[in-house]
Amino acid sequence: MTINESLQWAIGMLEQEGVENARGNAEHLLDHCLGMERTARFFLRYERALSAAEENEYRRLVTQRADRVPLQYLLGKAPFLNEDLVVDEGVLIPRPETEQVVEVAIRLLRQEGGVGDLVMFDIGTGSGAIAVSLAKELPAKVWASDVSADALKVAQANIRRLRVEGQVTLIHGDLFCPFHVLNLEGQVDLVISNPPYIPHGILGGLAPEVSQYEPWMALDGGEDGCDFYREIIPEAISFLKPDMGWLILELGDGLAIQVKDIIESQRKFAPPQIFPDLNGKARVIAAKRGQ
Ligand code: SAM
Ligand code: GLN
Repeated sequence: MTINESLQWAIGMLEQEGVENARGNAEHLLDHCLGMERTARFFLRYERALSAAEENEYRRLVTQRADRVPLQYLLGKAPFLNEDLVVDEGVLIPRPETEQVVEVAIRLLRQEGGVGDLVMFDIGTGSGAIAVSLAKELPAKVWASDVSADALKVAQANIRRLRVEGQVTLIHGDLFCPFHVLNLEGQVDLVISNPPYIPHGILGGLAPEVSQYEPWMALDGGEDGCDFYREIIPEAISFLKPDMGWLILELGDGLAIQVKDIIESQRKFAPPQIFPDLNGKARVIAAKRGQ
């Protein structure tokens, strides 16, 4: 088959299976099979025949995409801020909403203008998206935890990819547990997390790309979506620098008021600030520790 015929076949197949943006997906996978940057498609001769190996690989990937395997898992990478990060089925695919969380953190910490290296905890680091991006942008030492050993392998690959080995340390374990041995109580400038926050009951009803292929461990926030906020918020206090340290969390849809209440009920934080995402939804909450 020619490139053009293959592309038309792929678009038809993806449309039939209800994949959003069938053309874009078909083109991305074609670029991947041809080992080509997206911008190089301009020079492609659409009448050229694919080799047998190229055609087999393209058919395999398009069929998987038609089965709703997320595009990013098939490509093995996902864009995040200005980088491409490595991803596989062991990690949540980093989302544009999370870019917003990182941007808020950078802005608030730059305003503080502290001296020396900042100390940060990223709870549930997954692909390492938040940790590596912060390390790239700020003079920071980041400690990042996850309960998933598979996720930490991917995070390690991203640490190497962005060359932040000297700044980010991964620790395997539950929430703050692995941090207790570090003796950093009262010394942390930022506790940041995009915790699992999808209410358990609605997980199965999400798009098949999410519900069938992304790790539930990365998504399931318990009955009301707030299980992790209830654990992270009180535990963060003892680690944060008095009068300086920030707690910054990504918010699940419709959870802003509940999470704000959990923060306020601790009586240890200045009034929280809430920031919207690009769709206008309350997506980030930031609260500075008081005395
Ligand atoms: N930080 C990444 C991001 O923003 O793309 C991943 C966020 S994902 C929503 C939540 C992460 O928390 C997953 O990687 C999951 O494995 C991890 N996780 C779930 N339960 C955890 C726990 N008890 N302790 C530490 N990490 C946990
Ligand atoms: N943003 C993800 C989604 O909507 C959920 C990530 C999370 O639970 N933190 O599918």
